[in-house]
Amino acid sequence: MKALITGITGQDGSYLAELLLEKGYEVAGVIRRLSSPNTQHIEHLLGKIKLYDGDLLDVGSLVRAIQDFQPDEVYNLAAQSFVATSWKQPLLTSKVTGLGAVNVLEAIRITKPDAKFYQASSSEMFGNSNEEFLSESSLMLPTSPYAVAKHFAHEMTINYRNSFDMYACAGILFNHESPRRGVEFVTRKITYSVACIAEGVKKSKMSNEEKEPLVLDGKFLLGNLEASRDWGYAGDYVQQMWLMLQQEEADEYVVATGRSATIREFLDIAFKHVGIDDWSAYVGQDPRFMRASELHHLRGNAKKAQEKLGWVPETSLEELVAMMVDSDREIVRSTEM
Ligand code: NDP
Ligand code: GDP
Repeated sequence: MKALITGITGQDGSYLAELLLEKGYEVAGVIRRLSSPNTQHIEHLLGKIKLYDGDLLDVGSLVRAIQDFQPDEVYNLAAQSFVATSWKQPLLTSKVTGLGAVNVLEAIRITKPDAKFYQASSSEMFGNSNEEFLSESSLMLPTSPYAVAKHFAHEMTINYRNSFDMYACAGILFNHESPRRGVEFVTRKITYSVACIAEGVKKSKMSNEEKEPLVLDGKFLLGNLEASRDWGYAGDYVQQMWLMLQQEEADEYVVATGRSATIREFLDIAFKHVGIDDWSAYVGQDPRFMRASELHHLRGNAKKAQEKLGWVPETSLEELVAMMVDSDREIVRSTEM
C-alpha cells in the first residue's frame, strides 16, 4: 500500500508517517520549500519516505506528486492550523485551509480517482454550542476564519464523496497534542515554559507568538485561562485516521477523549508534575493572547468511532502533560542552558 501525506512536516503528519511505515506502507509527503529546512519532526524518517516539493496552493505540484507516486490513500493534514493567526491572515487561511483541501480533491479526481482521501477537519467547526458533548450530527457555527475554512473543506469533502463517488472521509479532530505540537498552541506554550521554570531558565531563547522571549523574568504570559478543551494525544489520533480509510464506506467521525479541562486545570497538572503547587507567581495574563472571538468550551463524543472502528484513546491528560513536560525539560537542558 502507498500513502501520500500533505503536512508531513507537522505534528500529525510525522506521527502518521511513522505509523504507516510500521504497517509496511510506502510513504510519501508533500513538502514546501522554505528558506530554512523545517524537517525536524521527520529527520529520523528521511531515506525511508519519498518527499515531493509542493504546496497546497499549487495544484500542479499536487497533480504531479499523485501522478508519480500513484497513492492508494491520501491524507490531507496540511493547513494554516493556528486559530489566532487566522484573524491576522484570513485570506491565506481561507486559501490554504479551505481551498487547499479542494486542490487536493481535484488533483485526486483528475489523476487517481480511486485513491482514498482523508480530510483533517476540526472541532473548531462547532463553535460555541449548547451541547455538552459534540458529535457528528451537532450543529456547526464556526467562530474564527480558521473554523470557517475548515467547515468549507469539510463540506467539500462530503460533496466530492456524494458527487463523484470518491472515497472521501473526514475526521472531526478535537485538540490533540504531543511533544511535537507547535509552541504557539497553549499546551506546548505551557509545557515549554514550565520546563524552563523547573530548570531555572529566567529568560528563554524560545519566543512566543509576539516574538518576545516566551519566559521573561522567570514568568510567562497567557490569555483566557477559563476556556476548556478536550485534549488527546496525537499518537492515538493518527491511528484513527488510518482506521477510517480501512472501512467499506467513507464517513465522518469525531475523534475525542470525552474529557474536557480548562487552561487553569492544564496549568495545575503541568506545574504539579515539576513539584510546584502554587503557580500564580509564574503566570501572567496579557490581552494580546486573548481571542477576537473566543470558543469557550469543547468536548467530544467519540462513540461512533468506538462502535464502528473499535477506536479508543489510550493516553490520559495527566500522561500527555507529563510526556510533554519531560520532553521539554530535555530540550531546555540542551538548547536553553
Ligand atoms: P501542524 O501545524 O503541526 O502542521 C501543518 C502542516 O501543514 C505542516 O506540515 C505545514 O508545513 C503544512 N502546510 C502549511 N501550509 C501549507 C501549504 N500552503 N502547502 C503545503 N503544506 C502546508 O498541524 P497538526 O499536525 O497539529 O494538524 C494536522 C491537521 O489537523 C491540520 O490540518 C490541522 O488544522 C488539523 N487539526 C489539528 C488539530 C490539533 O489539535 N492538532 C485539531 C483539529 C484539526 P510547514 O512545516 O512547511 O509549515
Ligand atoms: P485552538 O483550540 O486550536 O485554538 O488551540 P490553542 O491551543 O491555540 O488554544 C486553546 C485555548 O487556549 C483557546 O481558548 C485560547 O483562547 C486559550 N488560550 C489562553 N491563553 C492562550 C495563549 O497564550 N496562547 C494560545 N494559543 N491559546 C491560549
